[in-house]
Amino acid sequence: GQPEVLLEGKAKILIDKKNIFYNPVQEFNRDLSVAVLTQFSKDWTDKMNNDPKIVEKRGLRVLEALSATGLRSIRYAKEVPGIDEIVANDISVSAVEAIKKNVVFNQVDSIVKPHANDATMVMYENRRNKFDVIDLDPYGCPSIFLDGAVQSIKDNGLLLVTATDMAVLAGNSPETCYVKYGAVSLKSKSCHEMALRILLQHIASHAGRYGKVITPLLSVSADFYIRVFVKIHTSQKSCKQNTSNLGMVYQCTGCKTLNIQPLGMIPSENSYKIPAAPVVDKHCEFCKYKHQMGGPLWTGKLHDKDFVHKILKNIESEEENNIQSLGTIRRIHGMLYVIEEELEVPLYYQLDQLTSTIRGNVPPMSTFRSAIFNAGHQVSYSHANKYSIKTDAPNTVIWDIIRAW
Ligand code: SAM
Repeated sequence: GQPEVLLEGKAKILIDKKNIFYNPVQEFNRDLSVAVLTQFSKDWTDKMNNDPKIVEKRGLRVLEALSATGLRSIRYAKEVPGIDEIVANDISVSAVEAIKKNVVFNQVDSIVKPHANDATMVMYENRRNKFDVIDLDPYGCPSIFLDGAVQSIKDNGLLLVTATDMAVLAGNSPETCYVKYGAVSLKSKSCHEMALRILLQHIASHAGRYGKVITPLLSVSADFYIRVFVKIHTSQKSCKQNTSNLGMVYQCTGCKTLNIQPLGMIPSENSYKIPAAPVVDKHCEFCKYKHQMGGPLWTGKLHDKDFVHKILKNIESEEENNIQSLGTIRRIHGMLYVIEEELEVPLYYQLDQLTSTIRGNVPPMSTFRSAIFNAGHQVSYSHANKYSIKTDAPNTVIWDIIRAW
């Protein structure tokens, strides 16, 4: 039959009923990526224009390694200024046929170059001709693409990574998580942020092998996936400080109190037969239960707040001027607004879980927050959980408030 035409952002995509490559749920992911890449491109162009040592001014060279219909690449070409070339790659022959058609249909063939190969191969082949930006948007886990990505990205380049295997990352399968991400996941109210921190430690460990370090610009948990935006640059010296951005997490099996131990202080190993995170033979100071241990997690910053602020400003000015190319702009605005206020303390609690532990009534969220604040500590939400309490208050303060309620 006739292909259907679908509009998203400034792109129009031919959707053949037979193929199932288009995923409307990921519109938010693509919109957010357009917003991030736009700001990254602005910063990059400013830096280049202000550096007299750079004679040959040029735009960004981008790889979309797993492109499916080409929609994302076409949107980048049409919506993000300052891009010279986008390689839109997919391993599937029928996907690449779709990319070719869509590129012509959108008249972006001077920028978007369809390419059919294994993503890993494309990245290894480009180690001498690196990309400024690499976007990895696989089904499930991105691990197998990371080694190639960190090698074929330029210094101060941007890596965008999606992971959709949330069950694995959020503690349903800690053994599989270790196999895929080199970290043990935990079942926790804080699992979405843990997932982000597991993915970031994994990218950092790949980068470290090549003397590179990561700087997260934005790390987002949304719907059933996570998405991170990290800058990568070479620094042997900073690599050695990687462990200072890593920690193991201890969650009490009784009251679910969380403690983070910087890496290097891991107690001796346990032998466990069931597929659950190991239990550490150290008792919780509050309820005397043992701890479950997860990690390593990235304990460094999740976001560059200045960068987030700039994206918010761009969005606000678009809204004021009624330029709304992004279909999910309201949601992006709301999420970035929360992220801008997020404390940089890893992980969070959920109020109902804290009170259910002592079988008490749940105080109003605002009252509980004020109590933390009045005790001299900071408190915020996490964008990853609307019931979250993120605070720099020590666990003793939190439990004192709960018990006194
Ligand atoms: N980025 C797309 C978007 O935003 O519309 C969606 C990508 S889709 C989730 C994943 C794609 O990866 C599929 O089209 C699949 O054919 C492709 N793929 C899977 N393994 C691959 C590999 N090793 N190399 C290149 N492409 C691969």
